[in-house]
This record gives sequence, structure tokens and C-alpha cells, in this order.
Amino acid sequence: AGLAEVEAQVSVCAACPRLVAWRETVAQEKRTSFADQPYWGRPIPGWGDPEARILIVGLAPAANGGNRTGRVFTGDPSGDWLFASLHRVGLAAQATSVHAGDGQRLAGARMVARVRCAPPQNKPTPAERDACAPWIDREIALLRPTVRVVVALGAYGWGGALDALAGGGVSLPRPRPSFGHGHEVELDGITLIGCFHPSPHNTFTRRLTPQMTDEVFLRARELAGI
Ligand code: SF4
Repeated sequence: AGLAEVEAQVSVCAACPRLVAWRETVAQEKRTSFADQPYWGRPIPGWGDPEARILIVGLAPAANGGNRTGRVFTGDPSGDWLFASLHRVGLAAQATSVHAGDGQRLAGARMVARVRCAPPQNKPTPAERDACAPWIDREIALLRPTVRVVVALGAYGWGGALDALAGGGVSLPRPRPSFGHGHEVELDGITLIGCFHPSPHNTFTRRLTPQMTDEVFLRARELAGI
């Protein structure tokens, strides 16, 4: 199966009863400010360049972000931050990502969430994380011929990237590499880079600044040869 088939299959996955209930409840009740908008209310496939050299791995879609727009990191504050940086460094066509028909494009990059359905409080359970792992495993396996750099957003994305790479046959060093902003690990021709997650908690406190974000993606570009 190719990427399009995996995207179609994941978009109808209903393996996690708690997350199915949550994604649909949020989609039905809607946040007041989005009351006039349709909600996707389903799992969120990976999105971006099908021959990406850079893969960005996040945590899970936001209840009123990706779960509303149907596109990962689209329509929420973390995505606003992320796309602004990707645009500054030349990986995204536009500085904003508002809805799935806004004309945004990624060049050389693709983004995925480790867990594909919006979880309550942004916290998937370990069982939900494990249930969703085959989706990112399949996606990384399909992207393996082109991907040179994986940018992990936060420790959760880092863990997901390591698990998926190991599942695809990449040998991990022992002890298992720990997450840190700017940490780099070379794994069988793929470099994993850590970046603090661009969630409001990190950006409001300036734990993550625009410059720090840009530096990670400029380094990713350099390593990816684009
Ligand atoms: Fe399926 Fe993943 Fe959503 Fe669970 S979180 S229902 S495994 S897509």
C-alpha cells in the first residue's frame, strides 16, 4: 500500500473507543468561535510532501485544531507557531495554516502526529499510544527511501519517532537516546533532531523562541541537503 492508501485507512480507524467518543463529541458540540464551521471529527492522516526528506513528528491533533480542520497542525496555536517557522526557513509555502483548502504546501517536509486522534487534555493513554503505533510505523516505512531527517516535537514525538524507526529495522543505541532541544542522533542514515513542542505552554514562557525553532529547521534542511 502507498501513502494514499494508508491515509484513507487511518481516516476511518476506530480502534480506541475513548478517542472515538471524544473526537466525535468535540465535533458535534463545537467551540463557540467555530460554531459555523464543519468539524472533521476523525483521525488525522500525515500530510505534506510524499517524497519528504524531513519528517516532523508531533504528539496528537488538537481537539479544535486538526480535529476540526482535518489537517495536522492546522487551525491551532501550535500549528501557527510551527508553520510560521517552516515558512521563514523555506519549507512551507505560506506562513499560516488555517484550513485544509488554504493553498498551504510543504516542500521537502511532511508532518505526522504520533497519535492520530485528538485525546482529552492532549493526553493519550499508553494503550491508545500503542494502538496507534502501527500507523506511524507504516508511514515511516513508506517514507524511508527519501527521509534523511526526523524532527521530533517534544519528548512524546521523540519517543514515537524512536519506536517507529526501531520498528522499521533501524538499530538504536543503548542507552536509548534522551530527548532534548537540539539533541541530534544519527540512526542508520537518518538524523533525529529534538525540538521543544511549540505548544502555548512553551512559547508563552519563551522556553521555545522563534529563533530556536528556526535553528532546528535550518539544521534539518542542511542535514537533508535541501
Ligand atoms: Fe485509530 Fe490511532 Fe485514532 Fe486509536 S488514536 S482510533 S489507533 S487512529
